[in-house]
Amino acid sequence: MLDAMTTTDEIDNDTWDVVVVGGGAAGLGAAMALGRSRRSVLVVDAGEPRNSPAGHAHNYLGREAVDPRRLLADGRAEVAAYGVELLDDRVTAVTGETDAFVVTTAGGREVRARRVLATGGVVDELPAVPGLAERWGTDVLHCPYCHGWEVRDRAIAVLATSPVAGHHGLLFRQLSDDVVVVVADGVELPGDDVERLAAMGVRFEPGTPRELVVEDDRLVGLRLADGSLLARDAVVVAPRVQVRADFLSPLGLAPEPVEMGGALLGSVLRVDPMTGATAVPGVFAAGNATDVSMTLMASAAHGNRVGAFVNADLAAADAARAVAQRRADFFERPAWEERYSSDKVWSGRVNPVLAAEAATLSPGRALDVGCGEGGDAIWLTQQGWQVTATDFAEAALRRTEQHAADAGVGDLVATRLVDVREWDAGDERWDLVSSQFVHLPDGGMVDVVRRLAAAVAPGGTLLVVGHHPHDLERGLRHGHHMSLHTAESLLPALEADGPDAWEVEACDARPRTQTHPQTGEEMETVDAVLRARRIR
Ligand SMILES: Cc1cc2nc3c(=O)[nH]c(=O)nc-3n(C[C@H](O)[C@H](O)[C@H](O)COP(=O)(O)OP(=O)(O)OC[C@H]3O[C@@H](n4cnc5c(N)ncnc54)[C@H](O)[C@@H]3O)c2cc1C
Repeated sequence: MLDAMTTTDEIDNDTWDVVVVGGGAAGLGAAMALGRSRRSVLVVDAGEPRNSPAGHAHNYLGREAVDPRRLLADGRAEVAAYGVELLDDRVTAVTGETDAFVVTTAGGREVRARRVLATGGVVDELPAVPGLAERWGTDVLHCPYCHGWEVRDRAIAVLATSPVAGHHGLLFRQLSDDVVVVVADGVELPGDDVERLAAMGVRFEPGTPRELVVEDDRLVGLRLADGSLLARDAVVVAPRVQVRADFLSPLGLAPEPVEMGGALLGSVLRVDPMTGATAVPGVFAAGNATDVSMTLMASAAHGNRVGAFVNADLAAADAARAVAQRRADFFERPAWEERYSSDKVWSGRVNPVLAAEAATLSPGRALDVGCGEGGDAIWLTQQGWQVTATDFAEAALRRTEQHAADAGVGDLVATRLVDVREWDAGDERWDLVSSQFVHLPDGGMVDVVRRLAAAVAPGGTLLVVGHHPHDLERGLRHGHHMSLHTAESLLPALEADGPDAWEVEACDARPRTQTHPQTGEEMETVDAVLRARRIR
């Protein structure tokens, strides 16, 4: 346990914006960005940061030589001040999917999260030399930047357990004149590396050492393969590092091997280099879990950056949800009921494309879909049609009835409450089915047109007119944000009836001049016009 900052008894079961798995440098760096962005964040931490064996942490700006646990305890206090909650526990599994992850802990908790950020770091697997593990983090080292300065000018052994040890040898040679590379059994260093090290005054000893020799809690040296003692103050090793991410396996996210110079260094989680996103939507990763070479500062910075991307991902999701809600609010029945219950909405004139297209048709029964205030229905009756006027707003139907009565054609217009998204014509058929500017918030017009097409009698006409997406490109949103379509995109609706069922008479993007509703300026809009005649 790191510090008394945890709130283990107070964690509730609400859905967190983010559950961060691992409260080391990366996890707390992420929590800082997320907490300061007012996200609800739970950091679950098993309390085993990678550098915990070391007495001091170096190479960290502003906190040089700090006690590693002090650094994290301070980080915890800082993120807690921004509302981040911390839980001392171990995550055993993450299931579910984006916006609905379930995070299970060894302590028996189940918490829900919209996003998961894996910052569990890595486990160092040390070479199997007796005595090595006991001195790990004190005088058995791996990183010249973390603890190299502390062993400058001292007698250093570099234990070469893989062909890339030459790299290590050169970095430690920069810190001391007295470096011996002890080459383990079965390892062959590249000739170039041997030459470079030798040129720099590095010596070599063959064979896996038998043990570390320690006296009075002080490293004395290495017992070499031949039994001799190599007196040393420090031993440098290259552990194999395995990412701690088993908890992600229920999501199908498996670690991938990481290599250097053909040698296996261990495993990491593959992430997008910019955002930290893994292959599983909603799961991100940062720190050593993604890159074994990251130091504390790099891990904290990476976590901080990935935290910002997680926040951005959530912000985009929040906005998408709000847009969907806003569109639904605009398009759904209550909004239209309200609109048709207050001021006049439309001009009362017939839609011009309907007037042009219906002029040549022989009148019969017409279905006016989305009749609004009845402008089209009244015009159709005046051309000799008998009209069924439909809308999903009761108030529109009442208005249509009133306007038809006022125009003296009330007996030629029958109103009907219809939501075209779910409507089924049954056995009823019309000679003209007209839909003028019926739009849905999120598409789905092909399905609507398929339903309307089913209502067209043999020899009858289907006329579907809408705002063409061209209008959006010109900045005209028709007062709201809706899904526009081309006439071509609706054609699949007719295919269900077979190849010879329809004759498509018009499938156009048709320009029209009208007055801008806000500015009053003349402008060109484009109508998507689909006109088809049912053959059979
Ligand atoms: C001996 C040693 C000394 C080092 N000294 C330095 C140094 O001086 N300076 C420096 O810059 N770098 C140093 N490093 C490197 C440093 O430790 C890493 O860069 C750093 O710890 C990586 O941070 P991290 O947050 O990615 O992972 P970690 O610090 O390892 O933190 C991961 C955290 O996640 C927790 N965790 C893992 N799995 C789970 C789970 N399932 N559920 C909940 N929690 C989990 C772990 O317990 C741990 O607390 C040293 C490394 C070693 C091995």
